Amino acid sequence: MLSYTDARQKVIEIAGTLPRAAAHTTIEIEQAFGRILAAPVLADRDYPPFDRSTRDGFALRSADAPAPGARLECVGELRAGGQIEASILPGQCVEIMTGAAVPQGADAVAMIEHTTREGRMITVDRAVPKGDHIVYRGSEARAGALLVAPKTRLGYAEMALAAQAGATRLDVFSAPRLAILSTGDEVVDARSRPGPLQVRNSNGISIEVLARTGGAETLQLGNAPDEKVALRALIERGLQADILVLSGGVSMGKYDLVEQVLADLGAEFHFTGVSIRPGRPAVFATCRGKLVFGLPGNPVSTMVTFELFVLPAVDILNGATARPLPVFRAKLAAPVHEKGPMTHFLPSRIEWEGREARVTQLPWQGSGDIVALALANGFLIVGPERPEIAAGEWVDVVPRRGAL
Ligand code: AMP
Ligand code: MG
Repeated sequence: MLSYTDARQKVIEIAGTLPRAAAHTTIEIEQAFGRILAAPVLADRDYPPFDRSTRDGFALRSADAPAPGARLECVGELRAGGQIEASILPGQCVEIMTGAAVPQGADAVAMIEHTTREGRMITVDRAVPKGDHIVYRGSEARAGALLVAPKTRLGYAEMALAAQAGATRLDVFSAPRLAILSTGDEVVDARSRPGPLQVRNSNGISIEVLARTGGAETLQLGNAPDEKVALRALIERGLQADILVLSGGVSMGKYDLVEQVLADLGAEFHFTGVSIRPGRPAVFATCRGKLVFGLPGNPVSTMVTFELFVLPAVDILNGATARPLPVFRAKLAAPVHEKGPMTHFLPSRIEWEGREARVTQLPWQGSGDIVALALANGFLIVGPERPEIAAGEWVDVVPRRGAL
């Protein structure tokens, strides 16, 4: 059985072989957060567009202030956006504000904190080297230079950069469509009142949120009974999307029919189990040119396996590279015992003491326990090589998406 890292790699590899519908769409910049850029954003002019002062102070000729104690005559004032015609002559300076263009003749700025003023005369209390507190025209980017490359995920910094360059309408890849289908005779809609032995469909909402925040457009197909004909009809509908995500029906039970129905539809299976707990029965296949994930139905299994295996596929079909799993190290607060050959993802609380992360496993009743998961802000990852871990040891943890 594959390790979770190999299974992720498999998804990335297979998703990369699908012909990507290279559909683009142009959207307003405000709508672009999280989308993947399709056409480059170029610098419309030099950045900065002029030699810019980075401090409030006095623009001067560095040759006039080679040592502390230089005395200069202040001949004018330059505010941000302002201009003066005359060049600075030897022995002169100009009062300048942050963001203003350094005037002709000047080649350095003395910070106001390093000066004293008596009338028109300014004394500078230290040497001012050439170029001090100036960012030169074009030093951040030249006109025409690539500012944001295609395939970049747009976050606030990339969006601010695009706005700076006047690119307020952005060409982005169309998001992949992800169909969501839960299965199970016992599963009812979350808005309905369940019978005593029924459960509400919670996977519909967790998958939807994970998919949308991950960059997919979602299509809810509801719930399929554990019966082949109806299940097949709904799977066929789901195969119209780019990615079909099923929950439930992939274990060893007599009524776990997802794999059989997919096989009847000609699916090619890339894995039918991963060495993790929760989430062991997770299935990944291609069928009619689409990606299909059969996630185990227990709600915590569904969420963990979505994060591990479906999100990389969403990234790739979006035209981006797969986001790495943000694993980091934390100090274990209390000992952990997990035996068996699997890698465990255990709902946990991660807290910081100073700069040191500490992690505490939460009590839980296994992969159906969303009560515990909602109290957790991450998972402790325990590999098969470490059945017993003592308090104070360093362990791998991963945040629960959006909770940390
Ligand atoms: P399965 O993977 O079909 O064997 O389901 C495992 C467990 O998860 C069962 O207890 C199901 O009732 C539960 N389950 C399956 N699908 C859902 C769902 N959509 N929402 C909440 N619980 C579910
Ligand atoms: Mg089931």
